[in-house]
Amino acid sequence: MPQTAAAPTPDNAPRKRRPPRRVQVSRVQVLSPAMRRITFTGAELEGFAVNDPASYMKLIFPEPGQTEPTRPLPDGPRAKTMRTYTPLAVRPEAQEVDVDFVLHGEGPASTWAAQAHIGQVLFLMGPGPGYALPLQATAHLLVGDDSALPAFETILARLPATARVRVLVEVTSAAEQRTLASPAQLDVQWVVRGPDNHRAGQALEAALRQAGPFADDAIYLACEAGAMRRLRQLLTDELGVVRSQIVGRGYWKLSTVNHPDHDYGDDA
Ligand SMILES: Cc1cc2nc3c(=O)[nH]c(=O)nc-3n(C[C@H](O)[C@H](O)[C@H](O)COP(=O)(O)OP(=O)(O)OC[C@H]3O[C@@H](n4cnc5c(N)ncnc54)[C@H](O)[C@@H]3O)c2cc1C
Repeated sequence: MPQTAAAPTPDNAPRKRRPPRRVQVSRVQVLSPAMRRITFTGAELEGFAVNDPASYMKLIFPEPGQTEPTRPLPDGPRAKTMRTYTPLAVRPEAQEVDVDFVLHGEGPASTWAAQAHIGQVLFLMGPGPGYALPLQATAHLLVGDDSALPAFETILARLPATARVRVLVEVTSAAEQRTLASPAQLDVQWVVRGPDNHRAGQALEAALRQAGPFADDAIYLACEAGAMRRLRQLLTDELGVVRSQIVGRGYWKLSTVNHPDHDYGDDA
């Protein structure tokens, strides 16, 4: 069952950057000790539409000493502090978008989210393409860590009631567990990494070995970049999964600032 991500812009095509949109925090919800749901609103969200689940967007954060980021100019330099997030829920009528932030520790985005309050301003760019969800598949597997939970939620929301979906998600502590919902028949397993990020993917690896076989499940795998590669290899080399069943994404990388938004693991 071949699965593809939405086609990237060809190298020779001129890249059109959408103008950044100024948005303001209108709500902050504590979902768990390390997860904040932040709602952004603003007239500049007019026309902001997301087609695929697990799409992404860029958020621009203020530099130290700024209360509001500088608006990037259309052909000016890229914003200095920009990070990749998943548009979780978009409500065009209210000009709102929800974003779930993992509070993982040091990092401008995580640090900002930990202190976020109503009225603060960011700029938002995008969205970019997401997961070309194979709706013809009857069995789905979503494997990843807390950074991919928002992407998983957007996928879960799109699955039909006839589909079966297993979710395997790695979090830093048992206190991160919460209820996920889907119209599909849903089976969720939470595994705990603990506070040491160098163990990223290890708990998932053990759980995957127990959870198989995966026959012809459509698999979306998103987590720390090295762990994504190891887990994909485990799936293909030991668990009988054909590589084309897997869409893999590195969402962050150990000891790396601002890991790129298009790490598809093609180098492995
Ligand atoms: C397509 C896509 C969608 C994403 N969607 C979301 C989303 O909806 N919510 C979300 O929380 N994240 C999401 N991410 C991940 C997010 O972009 C990164 O975690 C980002 O690095 C956070 O920026 P930062 O400024 O906090 O840390 P950075 O300055 O980028 O990194 C600082 C340090 O923190 C470490 N680090 C970064 N992220 C994590 C993490 N999650 N866990 C542990 N250590 C980390 C790095 O290894 C580095 O050592 C997504 C990534 C991609 C590619």
